[in-house]
Amino acid sequence: MIHEKVTSREALAKQDAADTLAAIRQHFYLPDGVIYLDGNSLGPLPWRTHLRLAAVLGGEWGDGLIRAWQSAGWLALPQRIGDKIARLIGAQPGEVIVADSTSINLFKVLCAALTMRPGRRVIVTERDNFPTDLYIAQGLVEFLGGAHQLRIVEREAIAEAIDEDVAVLMLTHVCYRTGEMHDMAALTAQAHARGALTIWDLAHSAGAVPLDLTGAQADFAVGCGYKYLNGGPGAPAFLFVARRHQADFQQPLKGWMGHAQPFAFEATYQPADGIARALCGTPPILALTALECGVDIALEASMDEVRAKSLALTDLFIALVDDLCAGYGLRLLTPRDHHRRGSQVSYAHPHAAAVMQALAARGVIGDFRPPDILRFGFAPLYVRYVDVWDAAHALADVLRERSLGPTA
Ligand SMILES: *Cc1c(COP(=O)(O)O)cnc(C)c1O
Repeated sequence: MIHEKVTSREALAKQDAADTLAAIRQHFYLPDGVIYLDGNSLGPLPWRTHLRLAAVLGGEWGDGLIRAWQSAGWLALPQRIGDKIARLIGAQPGEVIVADSTSINLFKVLCAALTMRPGRRVIVTERDNFPTDLYIAQGLVEFLGGAHQLRIVEREAIAEAIDEDVAVLMLTHVCYRTGEMHDMAALTAQAHARGALTIWDLAHSAGAVPLDLTGAQADFAVGCGYKYLNGGPGAPAFLFVARRHQADFQQPLKGWMGHAQPFAFEATYQPADGIARALCGTPPILALTALECGVDIALEASMDEVRAKSLALTDLFIALVDDLCAGYGLRLLTPRDHHRRGSQVSYAHPHAAAVMQALAARGVIGDFRPPDILRFGFAPLYVRYVDVWDAAHALADVLRERSLGPTA
């Protein structure tokens, strides 16, 4: 749905009433007086997470004790939840596993990709990539003794930066600052045409936009559990390895959980078959339990419906801000073109930090990213059309007050 001209809050309330995703909002605890536009940083708490964690604490850990590793199926959780996430990102069963953090998983897949392209020494990425992605690659290049190179280029120069020296193209699919989305299939094809592998960071994509890792012929991917998957603060992350690469997949964090027979307690490492070799240590069962609750809720929605609503919400916000906030110095950083937009809207403003603080005081929670970015995430599973109306009006009020006030 495209909002040519937004007429009234009442019309939007009707749209919420007709929204096929509206029932899913009931799964979340959303505090009164808060419009939550920061689910791209930390998703809200699902009610069932309380209940499920209480059950696991009491019935499984409490009564089961060490027996629960078997009786409650704890050891199977990383693969079971991985298979569920695979359905959200267009991957196949057995290609995704949940483990560690996004940062650590990135380290593992970077190592694997470099090992699979031994004659090549360059990692290509973009300047606007998330800092941890850049830092992990920098750390790995340093650790490898300097023979490798991290080639950081501007977004426009990515394609031309992939030459015969490049082992891997490492990108974040939806940019955390601007919400701009890459064409995964096209860039993956360009990398493959030059003999390079690809790593996609899906932190701002999984659960927010439809993905087709299989169709794009993606090689490796990592992603985050606590953003649009609503898995809770510091939720474990996921890692994808295309099945065709799994036999060659080698990573240096060869912990016992990635061993072919962890409970044989052998002295020599022997990688497990398949995606399990991407595991390192003991899985965090309580955190995995919470993550599975969030993932199960995401699976109740069709990703096509999620995408349609995401575009409708972000279109609506952009249209309202165009109308209400013209002349106050906001500069839209997010593409208006649907094909290049994730599920957030960002603006640059010279007083972005103060504006976001004033919004928070009115119950509108987004976030500020230095040096001057206002960032609003629109998670279609619980953000309503009326929330968009109220947030845009609050933003207009804040900007008007600032420009009238003594400290303008
Ligand atoms: C949020 C985010 C991360 C987070 O990594 P952690 O290891 O969970 O801290 C990584 N990459 C991107 C692109 C992100 O947006």
